[in-house]
Amino acid sequence: MEKNRLQKKDIVSFNYEEILAEMENAGEKQFRGKQIYSWLHEKLADDFSQMTNLSKTFREKLDNLYEIKKVSLAARQISKKDPTEKFLFELADGSMIESVLMKYDYGNSVCVSSQVGCRMGCLFCASTLGGLERNLTPSEMLGQIYQIQKLTGERVSNVVVMGTGEPLDNYDNFLKFVRMLSDGHGLHISQRNITASTCGIVPNMKRLAEEKLQITLALSLHGSNQEKRKKLMPIAGKYELAEVMEACDYYFDRTGRRPTFEYSLVKGVNDSEDDARELVLLLRDRNCHLNLIPVNPVKERDFERPDRKNALAFKNKLEKNGINVTIRRERGSDIDGACGQLRKRYADMKKER
Ligand code: SAH
Repeated sequence: MEKNRLQKKDIVSFNYEEILAEMENAGEKQFRGKQIYSWLHEKLADDFSQMTNLSKTFREKLDNLYEIKKVSLAARQISKKDPTEKFLFELADGSMIESVLMKYDYGNSVCVSSQVGCRMGCLFCASTLGGLERNLTPSEMLGQIYQIQKLTGERVSNVVVMGTGEPLDNYDNFLKFVRMLSDGHGLHISQRNITASTCGIVPNMKRLAEEKLQITLALSLHGSNQEKRKKLMPIAGKYELAEVMEACDYYFDRTGRRPTFEYSLVKGVNDSEDDARELVLLLRDRNCHLNLIPVNPVKERDFERPDRKNALAFKNKLEKNGINVTIRRERGSDIDGACGQLRKRYADMKKER
């Protein structure tokens, strides 16, 4: 009980309206709320002492009631091959998460994690090996981007929710994160520059379609039919491919945003000519984009990527049949670039010690 009473509130997870209401309820002037929101989400303060336009007594009062949850840098790896950096962050409870910064001609893109671990169990993915530990709060998702901006001095223009975790398994926090990230009172990142990737949790895809967002939804497809998909993704046992495709169509209908399909190419599993043919049938009448990702080998599993030549042949077959397709350029392969690998290596190292 005592502990609960002393628990400080996670102030960075309050949206603009909520901060204003908090201040109003505390008998403060409304503009105090505006000032605090700006300190947290525009100036990216991580301590109340930095809020120099607030009186010392007021800052101390805030410090007693609220917590600016820590997202602290634990490791940083800079690729020598391409303009990519990987960050391992430690959270207030000691959980570790990873994020990636990729610099492109069009801007800087950050890949964020949405959960600590993951319970979706996709067979080729390193993030899922230790199961789900917990959901991330909106503040912890925002914090990854805020810290990266501060550590690098670079402005982040694009965000992909493709790190560890399943965003639609942490629906409310994920949604709040998207709204706060695109809010004009904060970093104001355009929703059109935000992409969230899901393994296909159908009810939440439909729910998301109703939220009046402009973000891109990416579906992890990985198989051109129900049976193939089931071999790689346990979630396919819950939602049939037909339902998942229907949810993608629904998202497109409601938002006008063209979906992206992600397809990890796994040698001997989903990379045959038949697979390509079936994929064409599945996608050709849809206004979409297909992203092929030669699978990143994870040492606990024995999946391999196809040879470059085969991956190109697979792509060409789709392209010839009118599918809008790219092979995702590999980034940061020298810095544990693949999903969950830096965090995993860190956890293994800790176990060995
Ligand atoms: N839970 C979300 C986000 C996961 S990561 C989802 O399932 O979409 C983003 C993408 O990377 C997903 O398409 C995921 O299937 C893919 N991925 C995960 N591990 C991979 C690996 N080892 N090689 C290639 N792609 C991988």
